[in-house]
Amino acid sequence: MNEGKAMYNLAETLYPIYRSITGEGVRETFRILKEWLGDTCTFNIYEVPTGTEVFDWTVPKEWVIRDAYIEKKPGEKILSFQDCPLCVVGYSKPVDEWVTLEELKEIVHTQPDQPDLIPYVTSYYKERYGFCMTENQKQNLKPGRYHIVVDSELKDGSLTYADVILPGETEEEILISTYSCHPTMANDNCSGIVLAAQMIKYIASLEKRKYTYRFVFGPETIGILTYLSQGGRWRTLRERVKAGFVLSCVGDDRGYAIVHSQTGNTLSDRVLMNVLKDGEPEKVKEYSFLERGSDERQYNYPGIGLGVVGFCRSKYWEFPEYHTSADDLTVISEEGLQGSFNIMKEAVDALEHNEIYTANTLGEPQMGRRGLYPTLSQKGVWDGVRVMMDVLLYADGRRDLLEISEAIHVPVRELIPVIQTLENADLIRKK
Ligand code: ZN
Repeated sequence: MNEGKAMYNLAETLYPIYRSITGEGVRETFRILKEWLGDTCTFNIYEVPTGTEVFDWTVPKEWVIRDAYIEKKPGEKILSFQDCPLCVVGYSKPVDEWVTLEELKEIVHTQPDQPDLIPYVTSYYKERYGFCMTENQKQNLKPGRYHIVVDSELKDGSLTYADVILPGETEEEILISTYSCHPTMANDNCSGIVLAAQMIKYIASLEKRKYTYRFVFGPETIGILTYLSQGGRWRTLRERVKAGFVLSCVGDDRGYAIVHSQTGNTLSDRVLMNVLKDGEPEKVKEYSFLERGSDERQYNYPGIGLGVVGFCRSKYWEFPEYHTSADDLTVISEEGLQGSFNIMKEAVDALEHNEIYTANTLGEPQMGRRGLYPTLSQKGVWDGVRVMMDVLLYADGRRDLLEISEAIHVPVRELIPVIQTLENADLIRKK
């Protein structure tokens, strides 16, 4: 449970920070992550200027938000950014004027089916201003005039993203990506950020690793497009990435979800499904790529085609607190984060051991001669041998460990020591 507690504590630090797709909130988040990771890794932070073309898009102006409020009389605020950061529409342009109730209602957003909650609303690519409040508050607004103020600025600045590369024995890569653009919501997506950070610590602690690990932190969509396009990085990734995971909403404890890759049968799909089935399969929901929503969109785009999958606990869109003021620190828990960490750790361990194996003998080896067969025959002592024999019988030089695992219905986690034993006894070899 140690990781769960560490991740929850980090989420508590990150939660109050007001993030958007650009701006100081993201920079502060990265400063905190860099400090939290210490000398575990090199945490690279990049700034890309407003106006830079990234594939079909352009890096937008940087948004500065200082304050926002609505008041009925001077000094009588009915809504304030200081108390409730979600009350301003993200990327609102500045405004300072008096409006009628009818005019106000046109720029107020609510979630009518959840009348007590404030929705999270943004307008990145069309300049407007707006406010968010509960439906109940909107219904109770009295006629008259209202003073609306957004003290913001849209300026030429930059978009901030970060990455961490942990080199392995080969240049082949495993990609772990998460997004850093959401303000003051815990499950979406403080949880993804802290899980990625904890995974950096875990990977860095491995004595040896076959793969190089690449961690990406950036604003959803525009940040990942920027990441892939800068310096033609997408070409490098297309060549090297063997599997990848987009982490999103991984902090609650309700269930687990996979958002499959575009083809649905990549190494990423196979390893995550293998691990998810090993835990509590009845709590696992599978979503097809048609239900994608996060950065698996860019990573799977034709021409890039990294075969990445999405990993969530309760999937975005699906949990009641999603994109509302209710997505606070009570939605996530140490246990929830720990569960997600255990899944990702097991996935990494499985990838590190996923080789194609060939049996060395013709016909079953005599296990007893090698001390691998119980000399007493009794029910119950047979199971371990049975798994060993199953592995040997399926080690046909074509199947990788994941396929063997699926064929014999034993999770990779349990096969790793079996493979070790068989290798030590010279009964099996890596292709
Ligand atoms: Zn979201």
